[in-house]
Amino acid sequence: MTYEKDNRRDFEERIKMMVEAGYETVAKEIIKCTRCPLHKSAIRRVIGKGSCNPKVFFIGEAPGKSENETGIPFYGRAGKKLDKMIEYMGLSEEDWMVTNTVKCHPPENRRPSTNEIECCKPFLLSQITLLDPKIIILLGNTAEKSFCPGRKLEWGVPVEHEGRIILKLYHPAALIYTASKIETQNAFIDKNRDLWK
Ligand code: URA
Repeated sequence: MTYEKDNRRDFEERIKMMVEAGYETVAKEIIKCTRCPLHKSAIRRVIGKGSCNPKVFFIGEAPGKSENETGIPFYGRAGKKLDKMIEYMGLSEEDWMVTNTVKCHPPENRRPSTNEIECCKPFLLSQITLLDPKIIILLGNTAEKSFCPGRKLEWGVPVEHEGRIILKLYHPAALIYTASKIETQNAFIDKNRDLWK
């Protein structure tokens, strides 16, 4: 068995074990994970927020400073933008869930590395399998890189991916730095409303 195949088998077995054991086990495994260097500086593990029966599953990039302190995803400034976006989408509390590509805060708020994303991916995939959302919204390029590596999606254009609809939208933080993107984001949402109605 090659190193790569061995890794792949371990990756798939971790998902299978967590999916069979249920969501509580996913959370416990996240809390005790030491597979990548991010755990060394993390204060809290940031598992997810929202409904346990979501229609729409948002994937962000990584926990920021306030998420690291609270353990709640999208708690800080970007979170306020995400709340506005969710409101504009017309979603109610039972309709959505949000998490990130990695569950630990990367120091200096840097992007998570490919290795960190891969180490954390079994958690993300187990969450998705267990919660079974119809639509996955990738908030920015890091979410795209994690969830469908090698695929380059057009912003605001939904596609089918492994039995679900995926849609790439701007990350809420991008809407803080470039206010003109809010209008474009709203137009993407308007075009796709039927997906989550
Ligand atoms: N907060 C998060 O939880 N995720 C991000 O991607 C940004 C801020």
